[in-house]
Amino acid sequence: CGIVGYVGGQSALDVVIAGLKRLEYRGYDSAGVAVLADGGLAMSKKAGKLVNLEKALAEQPLPSGPTGIGHTRWATHGGPTDLNAHPHLDNAGRVAVVHNGIIENFAALRAELTGRGHGLESETDTEVVAHLLAEAFSACGDLADSMRQVCRRLDGAFTLVAVHADAPDVVVGARRNSPLVVGVGDGEAFLASDVAAFIAHTRSAIELGQDQVVELRRDGVTVTDFDGAPAETHAYHIDWDA
Ligand code: GLU
Repeated sequence: CGIVGYVGGQSALDVVIAGLKRLEYRGYDSAGVAVLADGGLAMSKKAGKLVNLEKALAEQPLPSGPTGIGHTRWATHGGPTDLNAHPHLDNAGRVAVVHNGIIENFAALRAELTGRGHGLESETDTEVVAHLLAEAFSACGDLADSMRQVCRRLDGAFTLVAVHADAPDVVVGARRNSPLVVGVGDGEAFLASDVAAFIAHTRSAIELGQDQVVELRRDGVTVTDFDGAPAETHAYHIDWDA
């Protein structure tokens, strides 16, 4: 339902949690975060309100790192449980993905992945994306390219945001029939389903078009279509109070 991504000089966890709070008005049933730190990926997720996630984080803190993603879920596939909450990871725990929307062909993709030996744990349509990204990344080593390859295989409406522990300074996002906005800061960048999530940090925004993939780094943002061709985007200044 709500999505936030961050890469920059602040604690990604703090930025992501604050961003999720700004998106709470949208309604949700679960929340989760993943951060890249110390060469690995750390994740925490909980059914219920953000306060449940914050309690879990107080009991079991995540390491602090510069790259992270977060999600508030409105369940469509699989009940509102801790396990079905986002982010979803691959089997090696190196990729984390959050998703708004519905992946219509997830059952076929799930069968294909299971056939290749992947173990899927949740009831969501989302989890297949983490596994497909992990496979693509181990073949090409580039997270944006992996996201483009995966998106070409997906039917439905989606906003996807992902990180990979082997690409520690990168957040990638993709959208089809579901909103995703980039916030461009000074040495930092944001992704969110709504500008409200990052307006406290920057008012410089880029609205992604249909079927586009964005790669976020501290020093810049690259947007392409699902085939990798440079894409036209709409950059604007947010001059209202979200
Ligand atoms: N279809 C996904 C799920 O049920 C995402 C739902 C959402 O948009 O929050 O987990």
